[in-house]
Amino acid sequence: MGDEVSVERARYDFKKAMQDIVDLRGRGTELISVYVPAHKQISDVTSYLRNEYSQSTNIKSKSTRKNVMGAIESIMARLKTFKTVPENGLVLFCGEVAAGGDQTRMVQYVLEPPEPMTVFLYRCDSTFFIEPLTDMLREKKSYGLIVMDRSEASIGLLIGKKVNLIKNFDSQVPRKHRQGGQSAQRFERLIELAAHEFFKKIANNAEEAFLEREDLQGIIVGGPGATKDFFVKEGYLHHELQKKVVDTFDTGYTDEYGLKELVTNAAAALHDMDLMREKDLIQRLLSEIRKQDGGLSAYGEDHVRELLIAGAVDTLLVSEGLDLKRVKLTCNNGHVKEFTTKNPPSKPSCDQCDSPVEDVEEMDLVDHFFELSETVGSKLELISADSEEGEMLIKAFGGVAALLRFQVMM
Ligand code: ZN
Repeated sequence: MGDEVSVERARYDFKKAMQDIVDLRGRGTELISVYVPAHKQISDVTSYLRNEYSQSTNIKSKSTRKNVMGAIESIMARLKTFKTVPENGLVLFCGEVAAGGDQTRMVQYVLEPPEPMTVFLYRCDSTFFIEPLTDMLREKKSYGLIVMDRSEASIGLLIGKKVNLIKNFDSQVPRKHRQGGQSAQRFERLIELAAHEFFKKIANNAEEAFLEREDLQGIIVGGPGATKDFFVKEGYLHHELQKKVVDTFDTGYTDEYGLKELVTNAAAALHDMDLMREKDLIQRLLSEIRKQDGGLSAYGEDHVRELLIAGAVDTLLVSEGLDLKRVKLTCNNGHVKEFTTKNPPSKPSCDQCDSPVEDVEEMDLVDHFFELSETVGSKLELISADSEEGEMLIKAFGGVAALLRFQVMM
């Protein structure tokens, strides 16, 4: 699938769209919001909308009636393009919004939320109904959780503040007191063998649960006694996961309750990690910049773009607070102009030949960098706008900087 985007980009796009949507107002009660959970049939939604459509013929105000019916029609047309509802469901906003003076303009947003929608909702109001989505806007990174001893283990995920149990299982490791007749040595060996198998099973389950998760920030391991430390130290985990182990913490339990205990006991360490990540990146940038030859650093939108295209960028640092558009104009005579601006021109004409521009491509600047970095295989790290480091990235470096793979003379 070529159009698959990273989790981070999907989340950014969603957040950005929500920033636009929150300010939109209808002139009457005429903005339609529809929430479709994943398990819902498209045909059920369509028949629901058809019913709303026929009811809206009773609306007294002529313009409101026309706008409501237009919005419902437009949503139904859009739904036709889906065979099934995407994994996390679908949210549609549509309507005529005020656009200054007597003007209105039609807007339509079709969003796939970053987390599963569970309810079906239909609203018609003078604003779009976004409350169910606001919780999803909060930054939600995930951590892998393992609690274990020699008799039981649980695997879970911490997403935002929520602990999700993925699997709980018992071991076949015999208790440490021997039955009559067996030699002590042989019994000891059996115990160790069974424990080894159990640790491998825990590792396999962790691999299944964690390895494919792009947003996994780290893994924390808990349990009573020294077994958990042995498990980590002996390297039972897949090597990619082993690198992500943050630390081990004592817990009294190894069931679902133990997972919650683990999160409580690791809270301080987790909080620091989130903050540290951005700090580390900006510190690395600054220490490169301080070097006499500029080190492996670059900043400024245009310069970084050139280096990116040249394949010289290892990690791209982009501020989430960049509220800019990348615009590409192509006139009738084929002259092309590309630039970055806050407010794209509405009816541009060509600089070179004065003829009207037919083709205007417009893209959010952060998305533009997401796309470029995906093409050349560089990492993109979004830096939040409200941290001290994020502010510095905007003020001192124009919101775009890079850590380089190698130096380039340009
Ligand atoms: Zn031209």
